[in-house]
Amino acid sequence: MPYRTIIEPFRIHSVQAIDFPTREGREAALERAGYNLFGLHGDEVIIDLLTDSGTGAMSAEQWAGMMVGDESYAGSRSYFRFRDVIEDLTGLAEIIPTHQGRAAEKILFATVLSAGDVVPNNTHFDTTRANVEYQQAEARDLVIPEGRDPASEHPFKGNMDIAALVDTIEEVGRARVPLVMVTVTNNSGGGQPVSLANLRAVREVCDRYEIKFFLDACRFAENAWFIKQREDGYADKTPRQIAREMFSLVDGCTMSAKKDGLSNIGGFLAMNDPALAQQCRNLLILTEGFPTYGGLAGYDLEAIAQGLVEVLQEEYLEYRIRSTAYLADKVSNAGVPIVRPPGGHAVYLDAKSFLAHIPPHEYPAQALAVELYREGGVRGVEIGSVMFGTPQPDGTERPAEMELVRLAVPRRTYTQSHIDYVGEVVIAVAERADGLGGYRITEQAPWLRHFTARFEPV
Ligand SMILES: *Cc1c(COP(=O)(O)O)cnc(C)c1O
Repeated sequence: MPYRTIIEPFRIHSVQAIDFPTREGREAALERAGYNLFGLHGDEVIIDLLTDSGTGAMSAEQWAGMMVGDESYAGSRSYFRFRDVIEDLTGLAEIIPTHQGRAAEKILFATVLSAGDVVPNNTHFDTTRANVEYQQAEARDLVIPEGRDPASEHPFKGNMDIAALVDTIEEVGRARVPLVMVTVTNNSGGGQPVSLANLRAVREVCDRYEIKFFLDACRFAENAWFIKQREDGYADKTPRQIAREMFSLVDGCTMSAKKDGLSNIGGFLAMNDPALAQQCRNLLILTEGFPTYGGLAGYDLEAIAQGLVEVLQEEYLEYRIRSTAYLADKVSNAGVPIVRPPGGHAVYLDAKSFLAHIPPHEYPAQALAVELYREGGVRGVEIGSVMFGTPQPDGTERPAEMELVRLAVPRRTYTQSHIDYVGEVVIAVAERADGLGGYRITEQAPWLRHFTARFEPV
């Protein structure tokens, strides 16, 4: 029935009220927060599209699972359920729970990287990049050229540039490349999928040079859905079969359960190599907790295990990807430039073409994000030169390649009318884009500055 509306595949069972701050209230909040939307309080935001991370609604089955969570310090029943679900999904042998994705990254990189190493990835997510750099290694982004072009309609814009991967390994030597990562979907590159053909090609390169291959698997289910829709030969496979094939190609993965784990907290590190897993667990005990809970409560492990089952349901994935495309179509049809085609979890507004009169060092995407909040209480996030600009020795900054505002859609949280409202706010700002000005940074931290930087209008 393709002519029917794709409806939310759930009924609402419990609701949370939205606050409606006034325009003056929003202006005061912006000043207090130094024009950094991370500094806003939740009740100052009307529709919160800051992130799809940990912001989704859990199902009745997940809440029910939380009631039977086993809080045993060691050997919790909930851990074994968690482990079995992940083993079954990924085929990986060693499953290490962590409190978030970045904890999995920290443990993996602290274990395998040395100063001067290079980690190729399609595009490093911000915490991934920071954790690589914290080990004094280099995080190198090697997405295909189409992935850097907001207008390109390539079906798998998250793909790794295989020739560039080989060149990197040849240039720095395989001894300095302890692992290759691929992020599915490619979050910082616009939520774009990676094809199975590309994952297979990365596997071949890693085999040739005997390098480990890890997935940053945060949105593996959304990636599997895109493969089902777009890659030859996969239309009749289930999302679960496709996900298993993706995981069958890698030596391990890092995962944030706050995305496709459909949970509010949690993550894991998984791999096949038992010796490496042992080293990781030693560090886990130091920083996260005992290996059967890894910084999580027993009830969190239950919620994640159930979430990983639900996220692969076809009705869920069809609704999920459609609801993102719905927002994209709405703003795109009104002439607002966005990253094409829309990604899985978010719509990315292209501030570089939208606000061409604001130069990169005045952060056009930050200006747009601030304006969406001011106009309608909608909170998105800058993914541009605030997040990825690189300071140069002469005190200037190399701008990011793209200046995007990400509107990330929390899972199972907002209805179609909420999304209609967001579209209206974007369009209202677009109509007065020429009058917007840039920002300058007045305070910043040495890394991940976008979380805490303060700004003022230029
Ligand atoms: C969210 C995310 C992470 C980090 O996970 P946290 O749970 O936020 O620590 C890493 N990689 C990608 C692609 C992500 O989206």
